[in-house]
Amino acid sequence: MNALCSVIKFENLQELKRLCHWGPIIALGVIATCSTVAMIDSVLWYWPLHTTGGSVNFIMLINWTVMILYNYFNAMFVGPGFVPLGWKPENSQDIMYLQYCKVCQAYKAPRSHHCRKCNRCVMKMDHHCPWINNCCGYQNHASFTLFLLLAPLGCIHAAFIFVMTMYTQLYNRLSFGWNTVKIDMSAARRKPLPMVPFGLAAFAATLFALGLALGTTIAVGMLFFIQMKIILRNKTSIESWIEEKAKDRIQYYQLDEVFVFPYDMGSRWENFKQVFTWSGVPEGDGLEWPIREGCHQYSLTIEQLKQKADKRVRSVRYKVIEDYSGACCPLNRGVKTFFTSPCTEEPRIQLRRGEFVLATRGLRYWLYGDKILDDSFMEGVSRIRGWFPRNCVEKCPCDTETDSTPEGKKKNR
Ligand SMILES: [Zn+2]
Ligand SMILES: [Zn+2]
Repeated sequence: MNALCSVIKFENLQELKRLCHWGPIIALGVIATCSTVAMIDSVLWYWPLHTTGGSVNFIMLINWTVMILYNYFNAMFVGPGFVPLGWKPENSQDIMYLQYCKVCQAYKAPRSHHCRKCNRCVMKMDHHCPWINNCCGYQNHASFTLFLLLAPLGCIHAAFIFVMTMYTQLYNRLSFGWNTVKIDMSAARRKPLPMVPFGLAAFAATLFALGLALGTTIAVGMLFFIQMKIILRNKTSIESWIEEKAKDRIQYYQLDEVFVFPYDMGSRWENFKQVFTWSGVPEGDGLEWPIREGCHQYSLTIEQLKQKADKRVRSVRYKVIEDYSGACCPLNRGVKTFFTSPCTEEPRIQLRRGEFVLATRGLRYWLYGDKILDDSFMEGVSRIRGWFPRNCVEKCPCDTETDSTPEGKKKNR
């Protein structure tokens, strides 16, 4: 019994360590700042508690904070669900369809991938999110997405309070000159006078919180739409890339195969119900997945094995057609590239026109891969690897490839 207790405590402590990282510290800091300032602004200056509207407003603010934190901590501490160490499929013959993870000493269950940060194989891995310092996957997909929905909604409410507080507190202290705006912070001229005057510190805090709230609304709101797309198609970012490579492989070898993504049930509602359930626990066990008709339980893992055997499409070759500075959120690469910059700690790489890169994975507007270095370069640096915008590069035509075909399977037409 004692041993059990110590295990539980140890595990809990391990989990609490997830908080000691810049992601959760910043995220929780933003949540705390916006909700505290919104509550103080409401109670003291904009909407006092003795009015009915003021009370409802205050309860709503508390409600947002509680719901946001609940889903945030759920996403962080429940985690994505890891494939058990040493896992094997029930039917021992099925291991021929699966890859083996040496770190976890287990077969990689369908849809699972090994995360280097978590150091475990993650069920239905989408990505490792630094903001929750955990992976987004099978078990926490719903709470993660709910957090992405609730955070912008709460921020919009808070932003409304901030703007209205500043407006009502400042509008008769403002004086407009020919080309100047003066704010007289020395005296509160508003009637009836508030209990605590709206001073410079309150003004600065409100303005700062407004900036945070608007920034969060835009950035997190975009992530919400990306995650909803993933859920409604039942296709994670990693699986989208596998599908892309599958199409590339089939096109290159001019095969008669058609790759059908096996987990998209064909109806958005069906896909949605797999992730969002009333109990909060997603359908299934995270190891075996419902598949669409005509597909095999291991359709995707078989495709992954084929891709692994085919060295050429483990990475797709791209030619750089426009320079890229290596900036995290480049301003000159279009709005979508700017806002969909991958939120990971992985580096970006600088690109020059005419260079070549081998992409090993990608998002809709970004790719991740290695620069193909000249021999002269090879001596000092071993690898230049990182993210770059998709619109800086173009896929090299298949004909220029010189790699040999796997198992001599290429068809002549
Ligand atoms: Zn693993
Ligand atoms: Zn991870």
